[in-house]
Amino acid sequence: MTTIVWLRRDLRLRDQPALQAAVQRGEPIVPLFIDSSAEEGSSARGGASRWWLHASLESLDSQLRRLGSRLILRQGPALATLLQLITEVNASAVVWNRCYEPTLIKRDQSIKAAVKAAGCEASSYNGALLREPWEVRNGSGNPYRVFTPYWRACLAQGEVAKPLGAPSKLSAPASWPKSLALEQLGLKPLIPWDQGLAARWSPGEPGAHKLLTRFTTQRVAGYIQERDFPALDATSSLSPHLAFGEVSPRQIWHAFTAPKAALKPGASGGGAAAFLRQIGWREFAYHLLFHYPQTVQEPLRPEFSAFPWEPQPGALRRWQRGQTGYPIIDAGIRELWTTGTMHNRVRMLVGSFLVKDLLIPWQEGAAWFWDTLVDADLANNTLGWQWVAGCGADAAPYFRIFNPVTQGEKFDATGAYVRRWVPELARLPNKWIQQPFAAPDAVLQQAGVVLGSTYPRAIVDHSVARDKALLAYHRMPKSKDKDSDTGLAT
Ligand SMILES: Cc1cc2nc3c(=O)[nH]c(=O)nc-3n(C[C@H](O)[C@H](O)[C@H](O)COP(=O)(O)OP(=O)(O)OC[C@H]3O[C@@H](n4cnc5c(N)ncnc54)[C@H](O)[C@@H]3O)c2cc1C
Repeated sequence: MTTIVWLRRDLRLRDQPALQAAVQRGEPIVPLFIDSSAEEGSSARGGASRWWLHASLESLDSQLRRLGSRLILRQGPALATLLQLITEVNASAVVWNRCYEPTLIKRDQSIKAAVKAAGCEASSYNGALLREPWEVRNGSGNPYRVFTPYWRACLAQGEVAKPLGAPSKLSAPASWPKSLALEQLGLKPLIPWDQGLAARWSPGEPGAHKLLTRFTTQRVAGYIQERDFPALDATSSLSPHLAFGEVSPRQIWHAFTAPKAALKPGASGGGAAAFLRQIGWREFAYHLLFHYPQTVQEPLRPEFSAFPWEPQPGALRRWQRGQTGYPIIDAGIRELWTTGTMHNRVRMLVGSFLVKDLLIPWQEGAAWFWDTLVDADLANNTLGWQWVAGCGADAAPYFRIFNPVTQGEKFDATGAYVRRWVPELARLPNKWIQQPFAAPDAVLQQAGVVLGSTYPRAIVDHSVARDKALLAYHRMPKSKDKDSDTGLAT
């Protein structure tokens, strides 16, 4: 008999509850990855994530081989593939770590029932979160809709379980079942647009731990002061590694020795506390996704369903290409296109610009991010977009509209970020780098900028667009729901 470990968004060996459960069963282990994207609906990975997945699976396979094991790759509907393999390897059990995306929860529940009905054990574990979404409830037994009380309740639940170690050896079956070659999954792009991604990232568990160590030893002290400045490499860059489960939040939690008191909301707990609070936002995003699964497509605040969005394919395309004429916005989009990531502060600005300056539905932005981010994560992406659109329970109020020029001047005062990603503006002086459309002709000429030719004219006048957005907002029927905690922007 064997035990199948079905790997999904948990591509690591350390702190791997499903793998540990398999080891404890004492049978030969068959590690399995199924590319079942055709049945995953809104959870199916976009282009940049598929690039990451390819490299991550490669890394996981080589780690497994060092332990005397290997990764079996299959493609197709998950249930049929599992049932087939159960027969092939005479499996007594299938174990996996839980996913929380609504389509996957439904699918996995029916898979668990069907595997058991086929006479095989099936067990799932928490390998992705500090707390299960259903473990944290408010005084009335309901899910939270505001971050600060949610996080306080999480912290009040006591110490987070210590991460599990890695197995030193994995027992192999007498003969290995057939596996597809990694290339056969077709995860890598056909047209090679991925050089920038390859230059920026090292997918896989070893890459994740390198970044975690770099953060705890070199970045954490400056995190609070520097994390909002996109030209600085001041944050952890762990998000894609978390999205693929190459590092667990429990490992991150225990990488710091911050006393719990320092983590309390309002306490000045330093960089570690501020950073772990961001991990708390990730937990909160999963809590919301689990309890309000409709929010992947629909606003949590129902009144926003009546918002007069203005879908404009031409403007959307200019935004997607980093051709809006607002340098901080274009820099963010171009950073995303080249590296598969975008700084958090700039994600907020770029998102706000799409939904408030252009009045384009937030779902369009979420879909673009989904396809282009290497850290695309349904919970975090949904929370982020509902936050910028003001339609989430715990969101920036709609009437708070970021000004892309003053935000650029505040967080990229020297224009270093813009100069890097929008090189055609690099010779503009600091005073005009965030607003070339307002620069005197002589300044533009000297910097070699021809508006409408070397760099686009502004797609909208921000102050006019702002008034229009506010008018649309004020005309919208309002609900009495007062949930809000704008801490994401702080
Ligand atoms: C419109 C929008 C869309 C977003 N889409 C995603 C997404 O698809 N995937 C994703 O991982 N993050 C998303 N974020 C959140 C955030 O921008 C990224 O997590 C962060 O920039 C990743 O960089 P880092 O790992 O260096 O973050 P750090 O500052 O080092 O934070 C550490 C970890 O905390 C978590 N975290 C940080 N900020 C947030 C946040 N605001 N919400 C939830 N978790 C957070 C992430 O897992 C991150 O890796 C989005 C934000 C916005 C505004």
